[in-house]
Amino acid sequence: MNVLAKYRKLREAHAAVASAGQDPFGVVFDRVISATEALIGDRRVLLLGTNNYLGLTFEESCVAAGVEALRTEGTGTTGSRIANGSYGGHSGLERRLAAFLKRRSAMVFSTGYQANLGALAALAGPKDHLLLDADSHASIYDGAKLAGAQVTRFRHNDPEDLRRRLRHLSSQPGEKLVVVEGIYSMLGDTAPLRDFVEVKREAGAWLMVDEAHSLGVLGENGRGLAEAEGCEDGVDYVVGTFSKSLGAVGGFCASDVEDFDLLRLTSRPYMFTASLPPSVIASVTRAIEVMESQPLRRVRLQRNVRHFHSGLQAAGFSLGPVASPVASIRCPDQETAILFWNRLLAEGVYVNLALGQATPEGKPLLRTSMCAEHTPEQIDHALATITAVGQSLGMLDTFAAGTAA
Ligand code: PMP
Repeated sequence: MNVLAKYRKLREAHAAVASAGQDPFGVVFDRVISATEALIGDRRVLLLGTNNYLGLTFEESCVAAGVEALRTEGTGTTGSRIANGSYGGHSGLERRLAAFLKRRSAMVFSTGYQANLGALAALAGPKDHLLLDADSHASIYDGAKLAGAQVTRFRHNDPEDLRRRLRHLSSQPGEKLVVVEGIYSMLGDTAPLRDFVEVKREAGAWLMVDEAHSLGVLGENGRGLAEAEGCEDGVDYVVGTFSKSLGAVGGFCASDVEDFDLLRLTSRPYMFTASLPPSVIASVTRAIEVMESQPLRRVRLQRNVRHFHSGLQAAGFSLGPVASPVASIRCPDQETAILFWNRLLAEGVYVNLALGQATPEGKPLLRTSMCAEHTPEQIDHALATITAVGQSLGMLDTFAAGTAA
């Protein structure tokens, strides 16, 4: 029997998406030239759909630190953090991260996905309750599954709904851990964090914030939404990733909670996978230093965000609720979204296409993201191209008529 037979419908749906031109889920950049440009074949494309917010992927000192570690420490650790895979660099990065985040401890995981999986599965057990924002990233939902905890979803960014649900659970045994994100990856909106802190305190619950998209972006020092909102002391666990602002790969969880380091002996996604290669550890450690010492990158990013967001708004697109490094254009239907995406790529502008389950309410989106390294000329070019293609698809008329808000 063909075990893949169950995916017949998926195969058909994928073929339909790909039939409009390029397969949006199979794009290959033959060469990435910089934080903002790549080649597909010999065609140059503007990268407007990455998570490279500070543009550190090609930052010279980060590259140099990685190269040096590659030469002196080898290509990989060939082992887990609890066996032969903890080098001085791994614990050094953990100390660096803890100091940067002003937390007692930090644990480094091999990806951001695993950081959520590993933290949630170790913190919550079958008797505990996880209260998840409905728009949580897949890694949070998967972590909840691995934890085997009882899961309650609350309405996206709705502290009142969370309050109601926590009250409902108040007589139930077990700990209650609330999980929200700093910046949400699809619409770029932020959590009303101070309100969530108030609710969790009232209920005696714990709070975890995934700052994957907000680290390096928000807060005076780039520590994320909790810093920006002035409520870091109300956050018990901070999760994040090295694959966005820090331009590499890996993830972390940091906390002041006593005995946090016991997670190293119980978190399966931490224990049963190889640790990050020394080159990645070295470039991430350097990237944190760059993030701290070059606040101008954050200023440039915010300037680009304002430029791009106001341009899209002036053109009449239906966008997410706030100006953020992530700006998503809502499309009236999947066919329009696929066509829009293909035409943009044909014009040399790469954005992310988000369909179905990956999007809030299942509505199709073109997800764009800003980088500190985008030039004003690149942003103007992107705005002109997106506006022209949007107009050719009748999208601006549709939204002007208010039919797809
Ligand atoms: N959390 C959130 C909110 C994310 O958006 C992502 C990645 N898109 C992750 C975690 C996983 O991070 P990584 O890709 O570094 O594994």
